[in-house]
Amino acid sequence: MSDWKPRTRAVHAGTRRSQYNEVSEAIFLTQGFVYDSAEQAEARFIQAGEDEFIYARYGNPTVRMFEDRIAALEGAEDAFATASGMAAVNGALMSMLQAGDHLVSSRALFGSCLYILEEVLTRFGVEVTFVDGTDLDQWRAAIRPDTKVVFFETVSNPTLEVVDIKAVSDLAHEVGATIVVDNVFATPVFSRALELGADVVIYSATKHIDGQGRALGGVILGTREFIRKTVEPYMKHTGGSLSPFTAWMLLKGLETIDLRVRAQADSAVALARALEGHAALDRVIYPHLASHPQADTARGQMEAGGTVLSIDLKAGQEAAFKVLNALEIFVISNNLGDAKSIVTHPATTTHQRLPEDQKQHLGITPGLIRVSVGLEDTDDLIADLTHALSMI
Ligand SMILES: *Cc1c(COP(=O)(O)O)cnc(C)c1O
Repeated sequence: MSDWKPRTRAVHAGTRRSQYNEVSEAIFLTQGFVYDSAEQAEARFIQAGEDEFIYARYGNPTVRMFEDRIAALEGAEDAFATASGMAAVNGALMSMLQAGDHLVSSRALFGSCLYILEEVLTRFGVEVTFVDGTDLDQWRAAIRPDTKVVFFETVSNPTLEVVDIKAVSDLAHEVGATIVVDNVFATPVFSRALELGADVVIYSATKHIDGQGRALGGVILGTREFIRKTVEPYMKHTGGSLSPFTAWMLLKGLETIDLRVRAQADSAVALARALEGHAALDRVIYPHLASHPQADTARGQMEAGGTVLSIDLKAGQEAAFKVLNALEIFVISNNLGDAKSIVTHPATTTHQRLPEDQKQHLGITPGLIRVSVGLEDTDDLIADLTHALSMI
């Protein structure tokens, strides 16, 4: 398996067949497992083997298949699957930090990630320092000899700023800190995060891994030692484990993720190119466009620019709402990475609660629309957005 290419791993890695030799992965909808004898139960509680399970909160064959497959795809030693992306972020950080520890993070974060850092970790005595993720000098100034964890979204939401994984990892490793990245926008298909220095990679599987809007899920990837000795004890005792049925959906998602994400990224770049320079727009933001402020970094660390672009309308919120309401194919929602193309107005929805000055600082303007590109025909998507823009 080690010399299989990613697309092959995404289809076959981690498969465990039952005595029936089924083709498609079996769903083990069971909370627990029966032991042949009291002695076997005792032995399993002392040390469970590879194919030995105790309780679904600790592990389950379908969930383990998903963990092994996503680990193989990402090039990580191991993975722990979680009930949502946020359970993964919380689990990775809470399992590793304690009172008195210092964490440095980029400021441009998903709202719930910000909540964990600002409201939860600080309540337990973790000191948190925020920096502008694209400014290496700020990282250099903030990372201290006692910094335990460095955290950032490799591509930020919704303004798609790209953090230089290698440069920040080099700074963090100098002081022995662990680099944890939320890698949703890079996707498991285009990610090179581990290779560039990240120690722990987190995905919300709700996004591209399912990719079809059906379920919540998440995953923490890292060394076997970290996953099994640090993450697993925390997750299995605090209850954020993934359900077997969802794990099965996510396994099916992984079988097609490469094709889906590449097709979506092809459409995203085509849309970005078609809209760049449009009279109604201040900016088109897409990581691989030459006009992107971190285009070189983005090209170095992501094989393609991803499935999301953002556009900023000159005429502000009223115009943005007009565009959203005029779209016929794009749906107004707040997921991303889905087969269905989705538009979001961050300033009034996902980022509504941010104070005005923070919105301004992060570039979340009244005219900003986040566009998650799905699997529809590229020309139809370009026509739909161009038509909606012509309404203002
Ligand atoms: C969606 C998302 C999350 C949270 O994932 P859930 O599955 O919704 O819990 C975390 N980080 C980023 C960057 C996301 O886009």
